[in-house]
Amino acid sequence: MDFQVIVIGGGQAGIEAAAAAARMGVQTALVTQDIKKIGEISCNPAIGGLGKGHLTREVDALDGLQARIIDAAGIQFRILNQSKGPAVQGPRAQADRKIYKKTAQDLLKAQENLTLIEESVSDINFVNDTDWIVTGETGFNYKCRALVITTGTYLNGLIHLGEKKIPAGRWGEKPSVSLAKRLHQMNLRMGRLKTGTPARLHKESINWSLLEEQKGDIPPTPFSWLTERIQQEQVSCYITHTNDKTHEIIQKNLHLSPIFSGQIESTGPRYCPSIEDKIVRFAHNKSHQIFLEPEGLDSDLIYPNGLSTSLPPSVQDDFLRSMKGLENVDIVRYGYAIEYDFVDPRQLRPSLECQHYEGLFLAGQINGTTGYEEAAAQGLIAGANAAAKLKKIAPLILSRDEAYTGVLIDDLVHLGTKEPYRMFTSRAEYRLRLRADNADLRLTDKAIAIGLVSEERAEKFFERKEKLAIGRKRLREFSGSPQFFEKQGIKVNKDGVSRTAADMLAFPHVNFDKIIEIWPDLDTIEPRYRGELAAEALYANYLARQDKEIEMLKKDSRWQLPKDLDYSLIAGISTEVIDKLNKAKPENIAAAARISGITPAALLVVLNYIKHKAPLHERQKS
Ligand code: FAD
Repeated sequence: MDFQVIVIGGGQAGIEAAAAAARMGVQTALVTQDIKKIGEISCNPAIGGLGKGHLTREVDALDGLQARIIDAAGIQFRILNQSKGPAVQGPRAQADRKIYKKTAQDLLKAQENLTLIEESVSDINFVNDTDWIVTGETGFNYKCRALVITTGTYLNGLIHLGEKKIPAGRWGEKPSVSLAKRLHQMNLRMGRLKTGTPARLHKESINWSLLEEQKGDIPPTPFSWLTERIQQEQVSCYITHTNDKTHEIIQKNLHLSPIFSGQIESTGPRYCPSIEDKIVRFAHNKSHQIFLEPEGLDSDLIYPNGLSTSLPPSVQDDFLRSMKGLENVDIVRYGYAIEYDFVDPRQLRPSLECQHYEGLFLAGQINGTTGYEEAAAQGLIAGANAAAKLKKIAPLILSRDEAYTGVLIDDLVHLGTKEPYRMFTSRAEYRLRLRADNADLRLTDKAIAIGLVSEERAEKFFERKEKLAIGRKRLREFSGSPQFFEKQGIKVNKDGVSRTAADMLAFPHVNFDKIIEIWPDLDTIEPRYRGELAAEALYANYLARQDKEIEMLKKDSRWQLPKDLDYSLIAGISTEVIDKLNKAKPENIAAAARISGITPAALLVVLNYIKHKAPLHERQKS
């Protein structure tokens, strides 16, 4: 059977890759082991969070599916970090697993130009310098011009549960052994990583009355700009804590954990460690917060977030039952760790095409990342670029100052990763600009230009842009003097300068409600646009300054950074920046700017040092 694009895998990356290629009008097939498992969320039943929610909004801005799926399946929505600035707030939602899967499958089935094929792929071959042949375990061949592989944790997947080792892609699913062998034979540089999941608990066996309730936001904020309102019933999560007893049980049994016994040698996610890892690494913490999250509206399963483990079942029984509310808990499935092969992403171009294999794209956990959002963002870019290649148009490449997706892919293809890579807001140098609330304003025009966006989305986007432009104009039409604001109870410098409503939104403690209280006419700005307008106003001055910094850096990007420069001698940059620069020893300012998380402001401090304070022989341009 012939297609233009074939996507292998039906996880988050595969869904977005297949849908993106098909949206761009090329005949696409999604080949996956089990069609009924498309959209399965392997671990935590939740989408979004800090940095990750930004990625989901970017996927939505590029007309991807993840935001719409979670809006249909979300049973508790929260905007995290509400006490902090809008740039570091992240939308997150708890998902009903079944509805999530069904919505993903329904959307794919309704997608034009897309065929779903149930088949386990055992081999791939590049023939005639133009085509890829994808061979299934049944011996059937499929032909395509561009191939996207998104096989997640399945390549030589090996589950660890105490001393037990079970070959699997995830619990109850076959690993991909022959495909992994083929990728090794193709001389792709590969490595091994590890991730883990906690036990699943029976809802009825938990003493909920002892636990702290955590409600979602009312009203819930949707992820997608296409969703008017969340329709799904909303539920609460609950919180318990580990305690001395829990820690003692885990400590006593550390030798039985494959991570500590040496049975697992690969690296796990540093920022999402197993409970045994946390207890060793953060020994000073006497307790860890555990969120008890429902897996669905009609599910009996509870996901204890924060308790990922590969300790033997009897130890899991003991430590779980040592916690408040879980004294009599029934464990439905034990937690486990999984090791799998990944491909070193430094062999990819920023389009996610392999440097040495024409038409072969990789996306998702196969590239060393962890997380549904990281997978979805890469999948979308890989699928769009597979289609762009066939259509002979320029690939969709997002830069670090344009999108978290740009940061993610730039980090992967330039720096690679030694541990499962996950997104954080701190990885983005331009985080005031890359907000979750403005992802569409940053990206949708670009997606429209390459034919990635439906008419419905484009229409809604143009309407939103117009409404925001009107809102911005209105906020500049109303102004007052310092005396005027003093009468309103707001302290302003008595400098005689008139300030507009937009200027006032940049003041701490002046929010939209206050603005409307002062100028009731501004109530005509619809509530759904107010957050974005307030964020723009809040950051306007910072962003103008940042633009200037970027300009200055561009001009001086060729200033050399001596290999033996000790960055700890430079006052005014953070320890994190010092560590990164000392480790990377970048050749010049341009190379330093490509290091994840090094902000323009920090680089200007370095530049200033090199220009004025470094020993004379070190001051040079390349
Ligand atoms: P997956 O979702 O793994 O999808 C891979 C797809 O490829 C599947 O549909 C599979 O059937 C298909 N496939 C594989 N081989 C073949 C083949 N040969 N032929 C056809 N189809 C094939 N993320 C977090 O953010 N936090 C966590 O705590 C976390 N813990 C995890 C714990 C476990 C045990 C696992 C398995 C994953 C965990 N993850 C976690 C990771 C998260 O699930 C993944 O990052 C994300 O789902 C990756 O998406 P993906 O599309 O790359 O791959």
